[in-house]
Amino acid sequence: MNAYMEQLNKLDTQLNALGFCENLVFWDAATLAPKNSVSGRGIALEVTSELYYNLFINDNTKKLLDELEKCQNELTVLELAKFKFFKESYNQVACIPVNEYAAYANLKTKSSSAWEEAKESGNFNTFEPLLQQVIDFQRKYVAYRQLGGHPYNTLLADYERGLTVEIADKFFDELRNVIVPLLKKITDKNLVVPSPFEGVAYSVEGQKKFSNQILDKLNFNKDSGIIAESVHPFTMNITRDDVRITTVYQEDHPLSSIYSTIHECGHGLYEQNIGEDLGFSKLSTGTSMGIHESQSRIYENNVGRSEAFWQTYFPLLKEIFSEQLKDSNATECYKASNDVKTSLIRIEADELTYSLHIMVRYEIEKAIFEGGLDAKDLPKAWNDKYEEYLGVRPANDSEGVLQDVHWSEGLFGYFPSYALGSAYASQFESAMNKVFDFTEAIEKDDLSQINGWLKENIHKFGSTKNPAEIIEAATGEAFNPKYFTDYLVDKYTKLYDLNK
Ligand code: ZN
Repeated sequence: MNAYMEQLNKLDTQLNALGFCENLVFWDAATLAPKNSVSGRGIALEVTSELYYNLFINDNTKKLLDELEKCQNELTVLELAKFKFFKESYNQVACIPVNEYAAYANLKTKSSSAWEEAKESGNFNTFEPLLQQVIDFQRKYVAYRQLGGHPYNTLLADYERGLTVEIADKFFDELRNVIVPLLKKITDKNLVVPSPFEGVAYSVEGQKKFSNQILDKLNFNKDSGIIAESVHPFTMNITRDDVRITTVYQEDHPLSSIYSTIHECGHGLYEQNIGEDLGFSKLSTGTSMGIHESQSRIYENNVGRSEAFWQTYFPLLKEIFSEQLKDSNATECYKASNDVKTSLIRIEADELTYSLHIMVRYEIEKAIFEGGLDAKDLPKAWNDKYEEYLGVRPANDSEGVLQDVHWSEGLFGYFPSYALGSAYASQFESAMNKVFDFTEAIEKDDLSQINGWLKENIHKFGSTKNPAEIIEAATGEAFNPKYFTDYLVDKYTKLYDLNK
C-alpha cells in the first residue's frame, strides 16, 4: 500500500475514535443524563473538539492530502473515495479558526439545553440570544468557506453533496404543484376517517412487544443494536455493530411508537448493513442525510403505511391488543394511518402534507442566509408561513418555531433532506419493482428481500459514493422527483376515491 495511504488510514482511525466518544456523549445527553449535566458536557465537548481539530487540521495532514492528490491514479477505488472524503472534510473544518471551532461545540450544548427549556415553557425569548449566536456562527462559516454562489448553498451541500438553492427551489416547486391541488381535493371531501387508535388506551407494555416484533420482521440485528426511549426518537450510529435507536411510547397514541420504531429502524438498517470492508472508519456511515432519510422513509411510508403492511401485520397487533381492536380490521388501520390533516406539528404530519412542513423551514432558512431574517424575526415568519402553506396558525411558539431541535444544534441546511429522502424512497421502490414485486414481498412477510436490495445497492457503500452516484447506480437514472409525485397521486387518489 501507498505509504501516504497508510498515514491517512491511521489518521482516519484516530479521528473516528474521537467521533466515537463524542457520539456516546450525545447518546447519553439525549437519553439518561440529568438536566444539570449541561455545563460539564459543554466543556468536555469544547475540549474534545479542539483535540479533534488539532489532530486533523495541521501541516502534516495538508501535506499528506497534497501528496495523495498527486498519485490519485495509483489508488484503489476505496482509497480514492477515502482521499476525496478527507479532502472535503479538511476544507470544511480548516477554514474555521480553532478557538471558534471549539467554542461553537460548547455553544451548541448550551443552546440545545436552552431550546429544551424554551419549548417546555413556550417562551422563545429565553432561547433567542443563543439561537442568534448559532446563526452568527453559521453565517461566518459560510463566509469562511468562500464557495461563492448563494450563501445557503454552502450549508445545503454539507448535508447533501451537490444540492443547491437552484435545485432545491425546482424540487419544491414540483412538489408544491402536485401536493397543493391534491390536498385541496381531499379536504374538499370533508371525510372523517374512523380510527381504532383514538379514544382508547394502548398499554406501553403491549406497544413495546409490538415494536420488538416489528424490529425482527424488519431484520434489525439486536446483537448489533438496541432500542431505547427518548422524547424525540433518533438513531445514533456508534459503529456498524453498535447502532442505537429510540422510540417514544404514549398510551393514547400507539401509531406514534409504531412509526417511530419503523422509521428509526430504517436508519439503523442502513448503518448495520454497511460493508465490513470499510472497517473502523469515518466512511463507515451513511453517505448523506437525504440518502439516510430515504432509508427510514422507505420503511416508514412505502412499507409501513401500505395496505399490504396492515394486511400482513395487523393480526400480530390484534393478538396483543385484542380488546382495543376487536371491531377493527386491516383496511381500517391502513386508512387511519394515512389520514390526511393539515396540522401544526411536522413529526405528526401525514405523508402528503409532510413536505409542506419542510418547505416552510426551507424558505425561512434561505431567508436567514440571504440576510433577511434574524432570530428575533423567526416566530412571526414561521406563523405566517404556516398560515400560507397549511392554513393553520400556531397559538404559541412551542407548537410553532420551537417545535424542532435542529436549529438549536446548528443544523441549518438539514431540513430539505427529509423531503428529498421521501422522494428518493419512491425512486428506489420503483427500481426494486423491476427486480421483484415490492408489495408482494410485504404480503409474503418477506421483508428480507427489500433489505437485501437496499444493502446491495445502497447500504454497503457507506460514504464511499455520493448521493447522485448512489441513485444513478441503484436506479439506472438521475434523481427524478416524478416518482414521488406519481406515488402520492396514485396512493391518495385510491385512498380517497378522488376519481369519483
Ligand atoms: Zn429520520
